[in-house]
Amino acid sequence: MDAMAVRTPNQLALKNVTKSKRSESLEVMDQLRVDAKRIATHFKLRYRELRAERDGATGHYGICYDDGTIRIRLRHARSGKLLRYSSLVNTLCHELAHLKYFDHGDDFKRFYFAILAWAREQGIYRPERGQKPLLQSRALPCQPRELPSITRQLQLF
Ligand SMILES: [Zn+2]
Repeated sequence: MDAMAVRTPNQLALKNVTKSKRSESLEVMDQLRVDAKRIATHFKLRYRELRAERDGATGHYGICYDDGTIRIRLRHARSGKLLRYSSLVNTLCHELAHLKYFDHGDDFKRFYFAILAWAREQGIYRPERGQKPLLQSRALPCQPRELPSITRQLQLF
């Protein structure tokens, strides 16, 4: 008996949603990889690979491993919707800065802001209207040695 024949319309719809979500994620990752490469080249940073964090991860928006692997969470943990691209770029810049400074100290912040400013200048980082200008924000609640934990930081943006 054909397995397809016993599938209900609902199951099929669900399958299509999952499939389009996956291609949506792949598309975003493609764009993010292009932008990451541009930024890394400009700042002479080397990372091993850029991957999407698994869906459902809630502990962080991004993570940078000491082997140079960077993972970026693409979706809201609860709704499963894609995060704004500007948020992903922001996370990306944060994680790229960790390739040079593996804490959240002043050197890190300066470098992170420099990356973000350059990305903005290049049109890669386009925060929405009403978002705080990051370079004037000195109040990032970065906590040294609390790595990776940028959840609260991103909530500011
Ligand atoms: Zn961090």
